[in-house]
Amino acid sequence: MCSATASSGRRWDGSPARPSRSRALRVTPDSPTRLVRSAQPGRCPDCGNRIDRYPCADSADDGRVVPLHPQELPAAAVPVTSRWHVSSGTAHPAHDGSPWCRIPHATLCPAQPAPAVLTPQITTLRRHMALHTRRFINNGAFTPPAAQPSPSPTTTCRPVRPVIHLLRVLRLAPRPIDTIQCVSQTRQRRRCTRPVFDPDTPGGIWTLLPAPTAGRRPPCPANLMAVYDLAHLPYAEQLRWRHQHCPDHAAPGAADLSLVEWEPFDPLLHRQHIHSRLPGRPHTHRP
Ligand SMILES: [Zn+2]
Ligand SMILES: [Zn+2]
Repeated sequence: MCSATASSGRRWDGSPARPSRSRALRVTPDSPTRLVRSAQPGRCPDCGNRIDRYPCADSADDGRVVPLHPQELPAAAVPVTSRWHVSSGTAHPAHDGSPWCRIPHATLCPAQPAPAVLTPQITTLRRHMALHTRRFINNGAFTPPAAQPSPSPTTTCRPVRPVIHLLRVLRLAPRPIDTIQCVSQTRQRRRCTRPVFDPDTPGGIWTLLPAPTAGRRPPCPANLMAVYDLAHLPYAEQLRWRHQHCPDHAAPGAADLSLVEWEPFDPLLHRQHIHSRLPGRPHTHRP
């Protein structure tokens, strides 16, 4: 038996047997997201528990990402102020009226202070999360930031999760500045492995800025914290950092394979990442 495709160039049903050409994935310019997937699963860098990261709908800070607990919980077991829901791939800080809701990971994270308002069910879940963290640490699967090896006097000092100043907002970075990975998708449909930091272009300057205070009180000038300041860069370059792109993917059009990993800096939640002195070797590349 011989193949009809080989002899006629057509399949058995008469359709052309031309090999299909793969097309590069593009994101339309007016798309609200450059992401090709919705929830981004990952691990909390502070406790090692699973999280799902979503773009946040209710934020003046455009493009903010919020980590949510991966499972839905009965709404009755969650304090009203912690009830979220996900709609069209976006996290909303409000209850949608269903019997179930999502909850921000920060409410459950055992590395963060417990919220003022808790229910017995959430207290129990927080305890389970703390046990998970303990098990991850015992198994060697997770090392909390505070236990990561501190630099010796002969090595350079760098914060594990530095605070950056970008587009007039303080944000907490997921890892040391020069290891933050581009989130774009390559032509091979994998996440780009290049870092956002580029030693050949002007970068940030480590500086001491007044640490913000909780609530609406103004920062106290006497309390200084080390910040990787990018605010002096051109707007396009700050946008590149904001979108967590390497120089190759700075131009619009490429799809992203991951959400950006910056978190809005919160002086209460992130107080363990406040450092009052500058790193040993600043990444300073003045224009
Ligand atoms: Zn956590
Ligand atoms: Zn890239």
